[in-house]
Amino acid sequence: MNISAKTQQFINQEAQYGAHNYHPLPVVLSKGKGAFVWDVDGKKYFDFLSAYSAVNQGHCHPKIVGALVEQAQTLCLTSRAFYNDCLGPYEEFIAKFFGYDKVLPMNSGAEAVETALKLSRRWGYVRKGIPENEAIIVGCQGNFHGRTISVVSLSTDPASYSGFGPFTPGLIKIPYNDAAALEKVLEAEGHRIAAFMLEPIQGEAGVFVPDKGYLKRCAELCKKHNVLLVADEVQTGIARTGKMLCCQHEDVRPDVVILGKALSGGVLPVSAVLADDDVMLTIKPGQHGSTFGGFPLACRVAVAALSVVKEEKLAERAEYLGEIFRRELSKIDSPMAGLVRGKGLLNAIVITPHNGKEAWDVCLRMAALGLLAKPTHKHIIRFAPPLVITEEELLQAVELIKTAIETV
Ligand SMILES: *Cc1c(COP(=O)(O)O)cnc(C)c1O
Repeated sequence: MNISAKTQQFINQEAQYGAHNYHPLPVVLSKGKGAFVWDVDGKKYFDFLSAYSAVNQGHCHPKIVGALVEQAQTLCLTSRAFYNDCLGPYEEFIAKFFGYDKVLPMNSGAEAVETALKLSRRWGYVRKGIPENEAIIVGCQGNFHGRTISVVSLSTDPASYSGFGPFTPGLIKIPYNDAAALEKVLEAEGHRIAAFMLEPIQGEAGVFVPDKGYLKRCAELCKKHNVLLVADEVQTGIARTGKMLCCQHEDVRPDVVILGKALSGGVLPVSAVLADDDVMLTIKPGQHGSTFGGFPLACRVAVAALSVVKEEKLAERAEYLGEIFRRELSKIDSPMAGLVRGKGLLNAIVITPHNGKEAWDVCLRMAALGLLAKPTHKHIIRFAPPLVITEEELLQAVELIKTAIETV
C-alpha cells in the first residue's frame, strides 16, 4: 500500500502519544457516509468492518445524527440523580421493541456484560437461593465479551488475559457449540450455577456459527436446571445476522440480552441489558449504576437508531444480501480462499497462507483496492458491511475482494 506523508503523520502521532493497544491498518479516515468511508487523502473505501458492527445503520445516518444534534442542543446529561424526559420514553420503546419487561442502560459493551454478570449473580442469590459467594457463571471457550478484569477472567485468549491476573473467581469455561458439555456442568454444579453466557455466533473468534439446534438445546438445559441464559448480542444483535436478535433464528428467547455497538448506530457508546422483572428487580436503588448510563443524548440516539433498523428493514436486507455474499465469495478460485461462513451480513473467510502471504496481506491489498476489513485472529477475515449497502455495491465489493485475494 502507498502511504502518503499526511497519512504517515497521523500514524506517527498516534504511535508517539497514544497507548499501543491496537494495531490498525495504515489508513487514516476522516469521513463516512452509508457504506463508505474516506481517508485524509480523499480516497474512498467500502467499510467492511462497520466498527465491529456498530455502524449497521451506515455512517452518519441523517436520522440518527439529527436526533443527536437536536438533543445535544437541548440537554445532554443529568445523571440518574434526577429524572429526565428522554429516559422513560426510551425505556418503554426498547422494552417493547425487544419484548422484555425492563432495560438497564449502560454505555460500553463490556459494561453491559459486567452488568449482566452482576445481575445473574444477584438473581442466583436472591431468587435461586445459591449460598452466599458461591455463585458460578458458565461461559464458552473462544468467547469475546470485552476487556474488563472480570470479563477477561472468562476469556480463553491469552492475548486478552495474560498478565492481567489475578482473575475473578466463580467462572467456568466450557467448549462452544457443545451442548453435552453444558449438560455435564449443569448436572455436576447446577445448584450453584446462576447463568450460562454465550454469543449466539462467536464474532471475534472468527465468526463461528454453532450447529443448528445448539442454542435451542442450551435454552432447554438452562430452563431444566433453573439457570439464566444470557445472550451477548453486542455484535450479533440489531439486525446484523438477518434477525433483530441472532437468537431469534432458533426462536430462543434468552433470559438476559446484552446489546451495544449498533444500539446507537455507531454515534455514541450506548449499551443495554434487557430482562424481565423477576431478574431485573433483584437490583435495588444504589446497588448498580453509571453516571452516563441512560443519558438523554443516548436515549434519543438509541430510539432513532432502532427506528432506522425497523423502517429500513435492515434485518431482512442482511438476510437477503448475506445469501448473495456467501454464494459469490464461495466462487473465488484461489489457493488462499478457504471456507466461507456466517449469517446475514456477519461473515468470514478463512485464508490459507500462500507464498508467504497471509490474511493481513490480503487486507492491505483490499485496502489498496478500496475496501477495508481486518483479520480476526491470524487467518480469518471478517466481512461485516453496514446493512444499508445496496446489492449493486455489494457485488462491486465482492469483485474487489476477489481481485485482492487473486493478486495479493
Ligand atoms: C465488542 C463486543 C463486546 C464489548 O463491547 P465494547 O463496547 O468494546 O466494550 C462485548 N461482546 C461482544 C460479543 C462484542 O463483540
